[in-house]
Amino acid sequence: MEERTISSNQQHRIAIIGCGALGSEIVFLLAQHEINFMRLVDRDFLEKADRGSHCLYKEHNFLEGMPKAIALKELCEEKAASVKIEAIVEDVNRTNILSLLEDIDLVIDAVNNRFTHQLINEACVNLKRPLLVSWIDGSHGAAMTVIPGKTSCLNCILESKEAMPDISLNKTKSPLPQTISAIAEAQVFRAIEILKNAKQKFEQRLLVIDGKNSARNTIDITKSKIQPNCAVCNNRQFRRLDGKIGSAHIHPIGENSLQIIPFTPRKIDLPTLAFNLSEKGDVLVNDFLLIFKKPPYELVIFPSGRTLVRGTTDSGIAMDLVKKFLVSGK
Ligand SMILES: [Zn+2]
Repeated sequence: MEERTISSNQQHRIAIIGCGALGSEIVFLLAQHEINFMRLVDRDFLEKADRGSHCLYKEHNFLEGMPKAIALKELCEEKAASVKIEAIVEDVNRTNILSLLEDIDLVIDAVNNRFTHQLINEACVNLKRPLLVSWIDGSHGAAMTVIPGKTSCLNCILESKEAMPDISLNKTKSPLPQTISAIAEAQVFRAIEILKNAKQKFEQRLLVIDGKNSARNTIDITKSKIQPNCAVCNNRQFRRLDGKIGSAHIHPIGENSLQIIPFTPRKIDLPTLAFNLSEKGDVLVNDFLLIFKKPPYELVIFPSGRTLVRGTTDSGIAMDLVKKFLVSGK
């Protein structure tokens, strides 16, 4: 893959993956700078329950169940008419991530699950695209800069006990507004620095925020110090991108539901699965599907392994349910 050379006077193209509370604040701040093009990618829709954590959006966006990427595009175009914005309502996965990022100069990762963070990292290392990774869980948040070939990548710090802060890459608690603001501001500052940095010097410190105690720390993640032999950035093993880790497409379907489609169709014996699940919850089975109710969730399972998970929009929770009830069947 060709490395895209960034110069201070070229048209800057940024992709932001994840338009939740953090992503939307990053996009909104970026729109006030001289960015020529932003590609917003998010698979989710705004629901009434999101109101508290998405203060940027308008009331009608929630009532109409507007896709987050579209609502954010409209909002930014009102505030900053000069920036060209493309909104893509899609689940980011191994089949589409390279095409979403190959014409981009800088990628900002604002997703909230570990698998997608790692997939984005692999794609950026593969394509040699600068990447800003951010993750927040409750009051704690972290931000790092990945310049493939020059700095550590996300996998480097995940493999390093000293460098990895104790903050889950899967969102388990609602993010604190002040943590979101601090991480968003840091990422926008870093984004502008990367796009305009003529000397090509890059931030080699991981920023760690504790919004509850107004604390801010940094960890030295200089590549040579923490991980000289990383599977991703040294050995170019892209196991998520190649489909060796991860097994399914996940996308929202209707309100508060996700559909999971295995990359390789399976052949599930529904009566056997129904028998195994009958002690765990209510089961209804026919020749075509199995409905398993385990409040607050409901799984509709098809013989090919395609599964609708009702009661969540969190892909991590949905995958855990499938793993627990469908794969093990116990
Ligand atoms: Zn690495």
